[in-house]
Amino acid sequence: MLNIEVQLCGFVFDLILIFFISRHECVGLKSEKIFRQCLVIFTACVFLDISSIVAVEYAYALPAFVVEAVCKLYLVSLVTSTYFAFAYTYNTVFHLRENSTFKTAVLTMGIVGSVLILLTPIYYYNKDRTTYTYGPSVVITYIFSFIFILSTLITTFMYGKLMNMHRRKAIRSWMSIEIAAALVQLLAPYARLVGFGSALGLFILYSELENPEVYLDRVAGCFSFDTFAMYLRQEYEKFRNFSTIIICNDVDIKRSDEEQKRIIVEISEYLNSFGLAKLFRLSDNDFALVYDKGQQDMNGIESAVNLDVIRERFKSKWGEDSVLNTKFLLVPDGHIVSNAEEFIEVYERNRFKFEKGEDMRILDETAGQDIKEFREMVIEIRDALQTDRVEVFYQPIYSIETGKFVSAEALARIRGNDGKLIMPGRFIPVAEESGLIEAIGERVFSKTCKCIKENNLKMKGVDYVEVNLSVAQCENPTLSSTYDEIMRLEEVHPKEINLEITESSTLNQRHILLDNMQRLMNMGCGFSLDDFGTGESNLNYIVDMPVNIVKFDRSMVQEYFTNKRAEIVMRATVGMIKDLGLKIVAEGVETEEQVEGIKQLGIDYIQGYYYSKPLSKNDFIKFIETKNAS
Ligand code: C2E
Ligand code: MG
Ligand code: MG
Repeated sequence: MLNIEVQLCGFVFDLILIFFISRHECVGLKSEKIFRQCLVIFTACVFLDISSIVAVEYAYALPAFVVEAVCKLYLVSLVTSTYFAFAYTYNTVFHLRENSTFKTAVLTMGIVGSVLILLTPIYYYNKDRTTYTYGPSVVITYIFSFIFILSTLITTFMYGKLMNMHRRKAIRSWMSIEIAAALVQLLAPYARLVGFGSALGLFILYSELENPEVYLDRVAGCFSFDTFAMYLRQEYEKFRNFSTIIICNDVDIKRSDEEQKRIIVEISEYLNSFGLAKLFRLSDNDFALVYDKGQQDMNGIESAVNLDVIRERFKSKWGEDSVLNTKFLLVPDGHIVSNAEEFIEVYERNRFKFEKGEDMRILDETAGQDIKEFREMVIEIRDALQTDRVEVFYQPIYSIETGKFVSAEALARIRGNDGKLIMPGRFIPVAEESGLIEAIGERVFSKTCKCIKENNLKMKGVDYVEVNLSVAQCENPTLSSTYDEIMRLEEVHPKEINLEITESSTLNQRHILLDNMQRLMNMGCGFSLDDFGTGESNLNYIVDMPVNIVKFDRSMVQEYFTNKRAEIVMRATVGMIKDLGLKIVAEGVETEEQVEGIKQLGIDYIQGYYYSKPLSKNDFIKFIETKNAS
């Protein structure tokens, strides 16, 4: 009887793996591709193993060259399979910086090995259930296979740190099984374990790493966000161009979990029907369809994925009864950025930047440029904080009642490495988005306190200094204790501080802001409402917020002098605010006529270029000493 049971098991094993894998769409990742190639080669190898035994068994009935050819092909497939094992491992480590000379050298070695196998003699032995081949051809096979297996193992040891632990372990187990099977077969030729061993090794790899399920999102069934990142990395590596449609869906917390899942599955199935595109689920309920740029027609309209059809579909219901407030981000050309991380950042930043009523935005080079500038600014801010390049400028505030500069506003600046000043308009929004604003705010506050104390501002007529607070700071429950600590450290009385808050739609935790305000007010700090009169602020806010000063924004002040209706509104507003017992600062006052106009309105303080631009600390001290002395 033929000694092929074990190999048959291995063969069936491989066929089952092929079956499972072929049921899944390929993401197109290199490692995935090589694994699939491995599977084909290894299956062919077991098949040839079985064929060679059959050929040897029936050698009497077959032409000699056929038997020899089958046996040698089996040996060649053995070397090829170990070559692929090495290629898989090498790709795992160096997929981002391939060395083509090295790859050619290894491939040449594989080819040389195969040619030598084909050219050298082979003999076979067949008695009872012991069938094996021997001779120079077999020795060469052992040598070359051993070199590839050893190289694979060495790679996992030398570059183990570049692989994740699971991959390292899975590859090592795979190779160990191969070696063990080969050794057993060498010592006991009737135990034909090599084919089965390799099938077992592949199975380990499959279950640990190459199971296509690992690329999938568990709920949606399409590819996951992680896979998206991997896929993008590869696309950028190959300089391939692609287009993306990102479908941004709101997450309604009122929806049940079940309904949420139903929607996700339904969307995923719908979008997956666009054959040529790959579908990924991003964060929350967002999806991305990625397709080759070549799939667009002359007008730039995607032919495989019809955006108009998709947009139309998203206007109707999903799940049980949900209409989603879907927005679309279109990236016609992936090369607006240069790598996967930037692409994801572009997505994450723009996802929340839709204007009211806007449902689609096309992202072009500007978005790519934005992200680059954003990243550069983040680095600049971090460095400025580290190297103490955050400076505070002070803009004097004039009291109409006393005719003196009774306060000032502390305004942040970054001193660039070239000595030039970077203005807050450029870095504050970036700091707010990146979370660095808290560090900046604290630095400005601490420097302001130092300035108050060191220069004894109170004695110079400056009763208090206004310091801006950002929304993120207001929402931080530790704000009051941090600021209390800073004031104690710098020995500044809270009465000498007025904190500026703004009304903002991004403020979600109003109760924390109120808590912070209450604690700071109990210590003695005052509060001003900044930016009054801009888009986001209204009178209701004054009613709700315990502020003692309202700061009219420059835009509102300018409008007062140019627009009759605005003038009427402003007069009424001033009246109401005064009735509430609050003080008013007019910002952005630039000319003498404006000063006169403001004085007649009944406003208390003026802050503007007419008196002074924001000044460096030293200039501010000189300014105050001169102006308040007279
Ligand atoms: P803001 O708090 O409303 O500050 C007033 C801004 O108006 C300052 O701009 C000031 O230079 C400018 N300004 C004052 N008078 C005039 C005038 O007569 N004409 C003109 N054209 N402009 C005038 P700056 O210093 O560029 O600051 C811009 C904004 O950046 C500030 O607006 C504030 O929202 C923010 N900011 C500045 N420093 C900080 C800070 O330390 N923390 C936070 N969170 N935000 C800050
Ligand atoms: Mg301000
Ligand atoms: Mg202001």
